[in-house]
Amino acid sequence: MSNESTANMSEVHWLMDMFQSVDVGLVVLDREYKIQVWNGFMENHSGLPPFEVRQKSLFEVFKDLDKEWIIQKTDPVFVLKNRAFTIWEQHPHIFKFKNYRPITSVAPFMYQNATFIPLTNTRGEVTHLAIILYDVTDVAISKIELEEANQELKRLSQTDRLTNLNNRGYWEECLQKEFLRQRRNHNVSSLLIFDIDFFKKVNDSYGHAGGDEAIIHLAKVLRMNLRETDIGGRYGGEEYAVILTETDAAGAKIFAERLRRMVEASVVKYNDFEFQFTISLGIAEYSDDYDSHQNWIECADKALYFAKQNGRNRVEVYNHDHHKDAPID
Ligand code: GH3
Ligand code: MG
Ligand code: MG
Repeated sequence: MSNESTANMSEVHWLMDMFQSVDVGLVVLDREYKIQVWNGFMENHSGLPPFEVRQKSLFEVFKDLDKEWIIQKTDPVFVLKNRAFTIWEQHPHIFKFKNYRPITSVAPFMYQNATFIPLTNTRGEVTHLAIILYDVTDVAISKIELEEANQELKRLSQTDRLTNLNNRGYWEECLQKEFLRQRRNHNVSSLLIFDIDFFKKVNDSYGHAGGDEAIIHLAKVLRMNLRETDIGGRYGGEEYAVILTETDAAGAKIFAERLRRMVEASVVKYNDFEFQFTISLGIAEYSDDYDSHQNWIECADKALYFAKQNGRNRVEVYNHDHHKDAPID
């Protein structure tokens, strides 16, 4: 054998070795999707050696493949000689291979990117198609975990630690949005603000931790009463606020009365103590007179102030006509 052909033989041998051991999947299909070539990666992950799959239809060997999608993806490769790509964000995997990597054990299956390449005969006709399959599980998991962490951070930045209600900053953002929505659409919407009566006494009698227990208790009662579309938040220390969308003042009053009665009737358990408290509530319906969402808060706050002045443990509604020009003292 000449030196050249020995070298060529070695080269083919090396190529075959590399083809078998490279850490990507390599598959060749004919136009009927019959498997022609199946490398070591594919064998290792599917558990099927080449002789078991060769000349068999890809869709018969792997019954759970997304046949329609694969055909739609590969058709232009055969017809137009175009390359095609798939990424895990759009389609997590082509082959449902188990994921064995210990650090990424959160993913039961291997995430895959793939490239489909047309293979031509000597006349330039596309007779076959190669699939190059990449294991991108590590990348996918990092990205998914990062997104989850970002989601959690976002949630934490919007949440009050003690009550798990929306915190003031985020709640006010929601109110501002609702204000702008009302100004555009002129629907009906109400704002409810409420505050624990004589809370200083609760703190004095049961300590700050006892007071905290009352704050948590009130948040629970509130949460039980909220509808999907209502947006509740902790507005201040022992002051809460709720945006009642699609609700007029009369509807808000029914909601507020129910809340008031439930709080009045419920008992806070703290260590060996049991105690009760009441709340005062103020309501302001949206009005086109408001320049900003702060005006809306001011009106609800005024109504709350009346409720306190008029004896506490009660609901007051801000009357726009009556109070338009009259400062409250
Ligand atoms: P009023 O009926 O007029 O509302 O009387 P009040 O005693 O409740 O008065 P006010 O609403 O002004 O008092 C709020 C008190 O709540 C003052 C503060 O010490 C207490 N407070 C504020 N935030 C917290 C908190 O997170 N935990 C506890 N335990 N107390 C708080
Ligand atoms: Mg109070
Ligand atoms: Mg207060």
